Amino acid sequence: MKRAVYPGSFDPMTYGHLDIIRRSAEMFDELIVAVLVNNEKNALFSVEERVKILQKATEGMANVTVDSFSGLLINYAVEKNLHVAVRGLRAITDFEYELQMSQTNRMLSDGKLDTIYLNTSLQYSYLSSSSVKEIAAFGGDVSNCVPDYVAALLQEKFAGRRK
Ligand code: ADP
Repeated sequence: MKRAVYPGSFDPMTYGHLDIIRRSAEMFDELIVAVLVNNEKNALFSVEERVKILQKATEGMANVTVDSFSGLLINYAVEKNLHVAVRGLRAITDFEYELQMSQTNRMLSDGKLDTIYLNTSLQYSYLSSSSVKEIAAFGGDVSNCVPDYVAALLQEKFAGRRK
């Protein structure tokens, strides 16, 4: 059985992430979308909220599950017996960081964890969680970037912050 993990911050999930999830779910028998519990990054959404958003978005995808992990991806992969990580590439600017990370993971795992990359569908190549947050923070329209329920949650967060 071919299994893979798609790790990321997903703060929040965008249509770009969802596109990578859909496409990789077709390539693997089982896909685990794993939200990284990252204490250094100043996240807008809690891990529980990010997991819930992803669960809702992947409701109809029978071979996709959502989980969270902290610490090194390689430790999570060993624990779950996973050997393939999926990542998305938007532009050449993503490449350097991703290459370094995948080589580090190969080194740490003795070659047991490989990373594959899907390049973004062109219509999502400009999308990032940070730009979505920036647009929402200023009350802009994010309906082309995230599902409606995520847009509503963003609105709630920033309305609370403006008070
Ligand atoms: P990170 O895990 O680096 O904090 P994200 O959670 O934003 O970043 O993204 C997780 C993965 O999804 C990364 O591989 C990232 O390149 C990819 N990704 C983010 N946005 C898009 C997009 N619009 N199209 C395709 N892939 C994307």
